[in-house]
Amino acid sequence: MDTRYVGRLAPSPSGYLHMGNLLAMLLAWLDCRAQGGRMILRMEDLDPVRTRPEFARAIADDLRWLGLDWDEGYPDPAWSQSNRTALYDEAFHVLEEKGLVYPCWCSRAQRLAAANAPHPGEQTYDPRCRCAHMTASERAARLATDRPPAWKARTPDEIVTVLDGHYGVFAENLAQAGDFILRRTDGVYAYQLAVSVDDMRMGVNHVIRGRDLLSSAPRQSWLIQTLGGTPPAYCHLPLLNDADGKLSKRMGSQSTQALRDLYAPEELVGKLAYLAGIIPEEVPVTPTELVPLFSWNNVPREDILI
Ligand code: GLU
Repeated sequence: MDTRYVGRLAPSPSGYLHMGNLLAMLLAWLDCRAQGGRMILRMEDLDPVRTRPEFARAIADDLRWLGLDWDEGYPDPAWSQSNRTALYDEAFHVLEEKGLVYPCWCSRAQRLAAANAPHPGEQTYDPRCRCAHMTASERAARLATDRPPAWKARTPDEIVTVLDGHYGVFAENLAQAGDFILRRTDGVYAYQLAVSVDDMRMGVNHVIRGRDLLSSAPRQSWLIQTLGGTPPAYCHLPLLNDADGKLSKRMGSQSTQALRDLYAPEELVGKLAYLAGIIPEEVPVTPTELVPLFSWNNVPREDILI
């Protein structure tokens, strides 16, 4: 068995990278290179409405500009999610065979309402919507006559524990967290399914990414195990926040395209490395120079204010 470290950079080309994305990618790259790993650049361009090839090109160019490289992946189309539907279909059918998939016709408003606290006298909140309780014939009738449904995973009443490399034990009861969407009403596969299938099929055994995705790790770990794979090691990192809260792609001024006008790549890497506690002072540095200095010990757990 190949036990070599395989990591991935997995941007969504729905906009330009911001500093929070760059920090996550720098740490993922350093963790991989410090352990002699192989790095993949996977474009998460599943959503045809929100993602664009020009953003994918700009992201790859920004990563190279910063000094990050990869061994496989973009621009080879086989590593972009939009070309991997056959693999998602296959996994979806495996889950279906196991009775873990059901169609859901709830509107977005109904899903949100179901998540609100019930008023006295109302039925207590069931994280599983009524579509999960339909009989086979009710379901068949609706499939034949109604609008296309979304498809959800029927999660088990089971606690899945992930030992995060930076945040420690993170456990969640999947059924209590709620059934989640595997495939949208427009037929596009959802993030949780695609990312799990890709990590499994690409042999990714280390996932390094922002803390906002820590709560997805138990679902992904469960999906991968259910599909017969071994979940990767997960290691999440703090988010970069400004005074207004989480940095977002909508804040154009912080996009890498704008940062490239303000900083040389070594200056930006130095800033990120300093914020992440990898170097004690903000000095220009290349990612390669940081490899021998990298350790998770000094990376904060609380979010980083900039
Ligand atoms: N494509 C996701 C994003 O850009 C990251 C997915 C992941 O790392 O699991 O937010």
